[in-house]
Formats: sequence, structure tokens, C-alpha cells
Amino acid sequence: MQTITAKFGGTSLADADSFRHVAEIVRQHADRRYVVVSAPGKRNGKDHKITDMLLMCYQLASHQLRFEDVFAIIRARFEEIHRGLGLRQALGPVLDEIEQNIRGGASCDYCASRGEHVSGLLLAEYLGWPFVDSAQMIRFGGGRLDDKATYRLIRQHLSGVERAVIPGYYGQDGEGNIVTFSRGGSDITGALVARGVEAGLYENWTDVSGFLMADPAIVPDPRPIRSITYKELRELSYMGAQVLHEEAVFPVREAGIPIHIKNTQRPEDPGTLIVPQQTEKKATIVTGIAGRKDFRVISVEKARLREESDFLRKLISVFESNEVPIENMPSSIDSISVIVSQAAIQNKEKKILEEIRIYCQPDALTSMPSMALVAVVGQGMNHETGVAARVFGALARQGVNIRMISQGSSEMNILVGVENKDFERTVMAIYDTFVQGEKE
Ligand code: ASP
Repeated sequence: MQTITAKFGGTSLADADSFRHVAEIVRQHADRRYVVVSAPGKRNGKDHKITDMLLMCYQLASHQLRFEDVFAIIRARFEEIHRGLGLRQALGPVLDEIEQNIRGGASCDYCASRGEHVSGLLLAEYLGWPFVDSAQMIRFGGGRLDDKATYRLIRQHLSGVERAVIPGYYGQDGEGNIVTFSRGGSDITGALVARGVEAGLYENWTDVSGFLMADPAIVPDPRPIRSITYKELRELSYMGAQVLHEEAVFPVREAGIPIHIKNTQRPEDPGTLIVPQQTEKKATIVTGIAGRKDFRVISVEKARLREESDFLRKLISVFESNEVPIENMPSSIDSISVIVSQAAIQNKEKKILEEIRIYCQPDALTSMPSMALVAVVGQGMNHETGVAARVFGALARQGVNIRMISQGSSEMNILVGVENKDFERTVMAIYDTFVQGEKE
């Protein structure tokens, strides 16, 4: 028997019916022993997430404004779930205590965390499993997660506990204050619990059937990704593909525990399996295509710049001192381009250009806006002959002008820079070449 840690997101726990459905999934597999829950999410497009409403309560209360009307909506939603599930343990006192604490000036993190807390209590009672509070296990110190203490506490509190429901998103610091992760952080709790109990699998149940090969807003009905390595996922998420909280990958990756992304509404779908190494032969050499718009390219030209051993350091330190992260640095013999996100350089551009002129003394300096970056990702891709040629051929046939090319040393991505206006066409053309091309 292996141990599965299963995390369920907010849309999977939005009302009593979804709680029932989650319980059914949990019971289907005896290995699903530790269940981590989010706070109830939206039931439809116009609805509110419980966490958003709790944060609203905090905001109002901290400005000495009435928060009770918003809290009444939260109360009604939890009561509806409680009633719908036919639970018996009194919920009133739990909600009363939270309301009182908010009135008494409870911290923002405490308020935000209560959705997961109550959600966990309700599911635990419905399943008839113990509720183990994350405040006892997830430890923060100096504003950061203390992972060593956390794993120790998880082992301490869960060893000998056959099954448990655990609230996601929060923990506690050494002084007993509740501390939350950033939004979407229940994914991290799930990963920490999986690692702490040495699970064989971390299941992450959400509202999509895993990762898709490309953004469905650009490519109609893209193929799902059945399996992907942690490294490939990192490249794709960095370029914009989001399903999982970015920090959720690290704890399980270190221990080689696979993550299975599954759709609560369509449990029969295979989902995406995130693995340390690719073992299956993939249908396409490319695993996924993702990208982002709105980068700026700052090009520095200087004859024989390579003979100045401190040139690169001076150039990089200008961006460092202005706190602008560098996304990429393609170069030629007498020029170097620095690619940064438009949002990061906004309001600082004039100063940065001025400092480059002073410290680097370039022959020419230009700054070009509106570049989009598209990453073509696939493990082992750079060992295969002709992959780059297919990418460039596809773009040439579409009349897309390539402004930059970079083939990472990670051996699994090709990055192309194109005009913002060509972004969608680029993604589409690359997708068609690799997916349609390989069907034939
Ligand atoms: N409920 C929190 C949020 O809405 C955390 C989570 O769902 O992971 O961000």
C-alpha cells in the first residue's frame, strides 16, 4: 500500500454537492490517506471566494467599518454546506469565535486562513476522519517557511494517524501567530504533507484536466500533456502556463514524489503526471509551448567589448542596482541585448539607460519595446536534429519575423522573441508544426 496525499482546490469544494463528490473520490482509493483542503471557491462566475470575503472582513474591520454583513454571507455559505451534508457537530460556535476574533482585531493572515480551517472541519466530520490542524505542523520562522521543523512536526503529528483531513494555506510561527502562504498556497501545504509523510504520490485535484500543450485561448482544443518532468514544468510555468502554485513543486521534487494533476469534475480524465524523469516515449518531441508578451530589449553595442573583462559585470550591475531582473541576454560578437519585462523596467528606463552610458560607454544603445517571448519546451529536444529548423520554418511560412533566438543550455527549450502582434500566430504555427505534423 502506498500513501497518497490528495489536495482539493476551492472550486472542488464550493458547495455541499462538491463536498460529497470529493468524499466519493477520496473513498474510492484506500491509499488516499491525507486530504488537504482549500476554502470554498466560486460556485459560478458571479460568485465570491470565501478567502476573498474573509480578506474583505479584515479590511473593513481594520478601518473600523462594519464587516458583519460580509461575514453573514460567509456564515450562510458554510451553514448551507453543513446542512447539505447533514452534519451534526455545531458550527455556530466555530463561526462565532472567528467573528469575535475579527472584531477584536485579528491579523490579516488569521482572517484569510479561516476558510481552509472551517472547510477542513466540515470535510473531516463528513468523512468521519480526524482533523489535524496545520497550525500544529506547518512552521514559519522569520517570515519564511521553516521546512525542517515542518517535516519534523508533520511526522510527529501524523505518524500513527491512519487518515486525516488537513487545512491548506496556513501554518503558525514560533509565537503562535497564524501565517499564510501567498494566494493559492494550499498547493504548497499539500506538497509539504506529501513530503513529510513520504507519500508515493501527491494528487492535486483542481478544475482542469491538467496542463495543455498550449494556451486554449490561442490554440483551439490543444492536446493535454499526459506526463511532464519537473524541469519542463518549471520552464512552462515561468513562461505563463499556470495550474499549480510555483512553490508547490520544490518539496516533492526534492524527494522525487510525482504530482498528479486531476480534474474533480472529470475524474476519468487521465490528467497530467509530473515526474522526475521521462520514462514513456512521448507522442511529440515537444511537450508544451508557452509564452508572454511585453518585454523590452535593451541593446548595447561596443566594438571589441569582449576584450573588456569587466564589461558584463558593469552592465549587469546597472540592472541589479535598479532591481530589474534580467530575463535573457542574447549576444553577438560586438553587442549584447538585455531582455527585461516591460512592467519591471517601467519608470526606471531613463535612469538605467543613463547609467549604461556612463559605466559601459557603448558605441550605440537602443531600447525596443513590445517583444513577446515564446518557449518551445521538450526534454531531449535539443539532441534531436531539425527541431529548430521546424520552429523557424513554421514561422517563416507564417511571415513572422524572429527578433531573437536562444537555445537554453538546459537542453530542453528554444526561446524565440517576436513582435507582440505576432505572438498568437507564433504559438499557433509552432503548435501546428509539431502536433499536426506528427499526426501525419
Ligand atoms: N484559499 C486560498 C486562496 O484563495 C488558498 C488556496 O486556495 O490555495 O488563495
